[in-house]
Amino acid sequence: MKGMVIITMNTTEKTNKYIMSSYKRFPFEIESGNGIIDFGSGIGVNSLGYCDSEWCEAVCKQVNTLQHTSNLYYNKPSADFAEKLCNITGYTNVFFGNSGAEANECAIKLARKYSYDKYGKDAERNKIITLVNSFHGRTLATLSATGQEDLHDYFFPFVKGFVHVHANDAVDFAEKLSGDVCAVMLEYVQGEGGVIPLEQSFLNMVYMLCAEKDVLVIADEVQTGAGRTGKFLAGEYFGYRADITTMAKGLFGGLPAGVCLANEKCAGVLTGGTHGSTFGGNPVVTAGGSVVLDKAANPEFLSEVAKKGDYIRERLANVGEVASISGMGLMLGISLKTNKAADVAVAALEKGLLILTAKEKVRLLPPLSIDYESLDKGLDILIEILEDKTQ
Ligand SMILES: *Cc1c(COP(=O)(O)O)cnc(C)c1O
Repeated sequence: MKGMVIITMNTTEKTNKYIMSSYKRFPFEIESGNGIIDFGSGIGVNSLGYCDSEWCEAVCKQVNTLQHTSNLYYNKPSADFAEKLCNITGYTNVFFGNSGAEANECAIKLARKYSYDKYGKDAERNKIITLVNSFHGRTLATLSATGQEDLHDYFFPFVKGFVHVHANDAVDFAEKLSGDVCAVMLEYVQGEGGVIPLEQSFLNMVYMLCAEKDVLVIADEVQTGAGRTGKFLAGEYFGYRADITTMAKGLFGGLPAGVCLANEKCAGVLTGGTHGSTFGGNPVVTAGGSVVLDKAANPEFLSEVAKKGDYIRERLANVGEVASISGMGLMLGISLKTNKAADVAVAALEKGLLILTAKEKVRLLPPLSIDYESLDKGLDILIEILEDKTQ
């Protein structure tokens, strides 16, 4: 368990005393990424693993040159990153925020203003359809968008204008797609909701009806994007590019930022002064992000991600405790027959393997760059736990 230390009381005590207790933490402190067997990558963030040499070099070089400028001035790392990302994805332009939630906030504002500009204020064409069991973030607007009722407590009043539709329910969707809807926001694979991919037929209908009615499609690829599923964007699996796509988690290799990408139709909506962010497009973050793009958008790298996902599935296929495996590429959800996912996560941690859970499933989001040796080490531990009848 190199790199991990079992409870240093100091850190635990300080954390519990001085950091708001909004998180349930494992009683482990992580000091260094070196040597960790990690199937979680900090919730899909450390896409190139720990201490990737080129990423470190780009980040350190930029820290030593210029750490921040604000958006009052131009900076080259953000311009270079934006150009690369647009070329890779086919989008027209990008807005930089600091997190997934902020990327989605931008998408929500953009969609509402698109409709306002085109149909006028009086049309009140401002509703956004999201899916039941979705997760879009923790700010008030993105929490209101999130289709999980158990999260809709305490913080009243929530932001109006979100309509929740059952995933893969064509009838529910068609009924709720009324004249006051300006956009639909969805995750191609619901991540926090339990690693559940949408059905192709449902997406076909969503895209068809939205095109007919000039309703924008917003793909929340905060978790699925940047190569996680074996495609650069998960939408590629389904043959669609949304009007707006948001990305964050793995896109910058471990530094905090999020982006909202717009197609030609939406690229001119957020005009001067309508949106902003002090830190957005930070040069250090985007310098690191460019290294992620150089690696993770490479077709060979992406097919390796898909292969590694298949390999994990193969190794788990014959484990009796595994009921089913969902997801794509290196974004996998494992349903268990008898064990509780949370207990498996604790047992894994005790054996030196980091894993995640999503709802009742074990969730795996290993670094995209993980090698087979580390995969095998982690899988050996996971399988040993799942086959241990005394668990
Ligand atoms: C994690 C996540 C978010 C929120 O991202 P933050 O960076 O925590 O704000 C939004 N949408 C999806 C799909 C996510 O997985």
